[in-house]
Amino acid sequence: MFKALVLDQVDGKTTAEIKQLDESELPAGEVLIEVGYSSLNYKDGLAVTGKGPIIAKFPAIPGIDLVGQVISSEDPRFSPGMQVVVTGWGVGERHWGGMAARARMQADWLVPLPEGMSPQTAMAIGTAGLTAMLCVLALEEAGVKPEQGPVLVTGASGGVGSVAVNLLSRRGFEVVAGTGRVEEEPYLRKLGAQAIRSRDEMAVVSRPLEKQRWAGVVDTVGGTVLARALAETLYAGAVAACGLAGSADLPTTVMPFILRNVRLQGVDSVSCPTERRTLAWQKLQQELDTSLLGDLVQEIALEQVPEYAERIVQGKVRGRTLVRIAE
Ligand code: NDP
Repeated sequence: MFKALVLDQVDGKTTAEIKQLDESELPAGEVLIEVGYSSLNYKDGLAVTGKGPIIAKFPAIPGIDLVGQVISSEDPRFSPGMQVVVTGWGVGERHWGGMAARARMQADWLVPLPEGMSPQTAMAIGTAGLTAMLCVLALEEAGVKPEQGPVLVTGASGGVGSVAVNLLSRRGFEVVAGTGRVEEEPYLRKLGAQAIRSRDEMAVVSRPLEKQRWAGVVDTVGGTVLARALAETLYAGAVAACGLAGSADLPTTVMPFILRNVRLQGVDSVSCPTERRTLAWQKLQQELDTSLLGDLVQEIALEQVPEYAERIVQGKVRGRTLVRIAE
């Protein structure tokens, strides 16, 4: 038997309860994993609180990220004792996720824990950090360079945003942190931000084109914030859009695209091909200032997940939240 956070539906409402399950109840997959840590992402917050349609079928175990040790594997690429990381692929959505002491996964979803990276660091990075690196790679591939001007990161004190701030600043960019929590300025500056832009300024409905400010943007917020960022992007600049923490709408016009050659690049981490995913994890290992992760990370027990899920959907969680699974 093993401990799991189980989501179910009672009278159309999502319930979250710690239960003891048997390994035979786990879904099919080639690799059985003893989970060490999971992490709490915005998407997990939506799943656990029932505030978003994340879970495909109940009962379910949430947790879109996990790190753990292989117990047994029917796939020769993985052997008992290996440490592996799983993010995306519908884990914690269509497939039971990381918020349980055991998980059974498809071998193709697993990335070996990068050499020298601790399980805690991997989960401090998690889907959020992977997505941040994919956004940084998207800007790089669009030709955005530090000498062209400042870059904006929206939702900067969130999980994706805070890692993006650090990665971009370490690549030599002048980073402007867009945030609704100006009290987080010292934290954001420690991560590498050189200036702060308040949500009030970012969320004002923009004209089709505004004063050009940003060589590149990492947007985790969507809505009017993304629309304004597009209208403020420099000629031939690029915006990597990965999130909807503010809104799924995009009230913009074609003007930034047809008059300023701005590129809007979507970023998805869930179905990101394994080759690109592995590259992103290697670059995270090389480039992220992991000494700052201590400030970015808090650790909670599985029992605390429902409480923190409420907080993360209210935008009250800073940085990354690790969920300790191993006893
Ligand atoms: P967090 O909750 O950690 O961060 C989101 C941040 O967005 C908050 O910290 C806050 O930043 C800001 N924010 C929250 N609510 C609002 C609002 N109403 N208006 C404007 N800003 C707001 O989430 P994550 O960093 O984990 O995820 C960020 C987004 O990216 C989410 O929408 C998530 O679903 C998405 N995502 C997408 C992925 C993909 O593959 N495309 C993968 C991972 C995440 P601040 O306080 O600084 O303003």
